[in-house]
Amino acid sequence: MNSSNELLTYLRTKLGQADATSSKQLRKQILAFVDSSARYLIIQIQYMRNVMIGTPSPDMNPVGRLVEFYGETMGLEAPVYAYLGESYYSTGAFIYYKKYGQRLGTEYFIVSADLADPAVFWVLSAHEIAHCWLSRKDLVDQICNDNPLITDKTNADQVESHVEEALCDVIATRFAGPAYPRAFASKLWVHLTEEYANRHPLYSFRLECMAQALDDSRFYDEAGSIREMMDEYKMRPWKDEVISWSLDRLLDLTTKMPPVTSAKTGRSCYDFNQYWDMICEASPASDPAIMKRASDSLLSQLEG
Ligand SMILES: [Zn+2]
Repeated sequence: MNSSNELLTYLRTKLGQADATSSKQLRKQILAFVDSSARYLIIQIQYMRNVMIGTPSPDMNPVGRLVEFYGETMGLEAPVYAYLGESYYSTGAFIYYKKYGQRLGTEYFIVSADLADPAVFWVLSAHEIAHCWLSRKDLVDQICNDNPLITDKTNADQVESHVEEALCDVIATRFAGPAYPRAFASKLWVHLTEEYANRHPLYSFRLECMAQALDDSRFYDEAGSIREMMDEYKMRPWKDEVISWSLDRLLDLTTKMPPVTSAKTGRSCYDFNQYWDMICEASPASDPAIMKRASDSLLSQLEG
């Protein structure tokens, strides 16, 4: 509510400026800005309604507790509201302010986890929290700014988007450990051999980023199994990715991420690695209910 009021006050000031100017061109620009901002505000309000509908009270919001814990451990300065929606995503900071290079004084983030997933997959929200964290940093710019391969605006947008997505994977892996790539590969396994020319890098590159982050944290066996899986699936070589040149920088710039497993509280009660260890050790044939058991145990911790 504070953010909405803050924005509306700001837009009223802009409307005053539009009234006061004698330049038709400037007036049109200001009105276009106000119009876009108002539309984005409506989108933001819809997200917030989803949070309120999906989370009757904080006590009944286990995914909210998890995301809040992640946000605090990662050092996010703004509150995070989470709910179960149709997929994993985050709003980051208010996008209209990002677009116009301005920020709200009162900021917050919204994260959605996939309603259809058992709780053991919610570790994937570490990637979304990384998006929120990055919105207050200039790591993507640091990687993209001095790259000679960025030649035009379209190319720059694609590169920036791929760099940010890969960075979020590296951060999530450093932060959450092997549970993140295990959940990622388990959720997306039917898609891993597909190639998309979209906002995300090649799956093989994303998995290689995760494997190298695991190597850095001495999870050598887990990194080895990711690479074996990539061979087995005959995935396109990760060096074909348009931002393959950025891999070392992605890793260098994130070495100081706090691992969630060594957070202040010691081994976290929300440590997904123990559950993914159980799942990976069991075979689906001998223990088909393992995913449900692991998710139920995790949920009871999150709700406790
Ligand atoms: Zn992402």
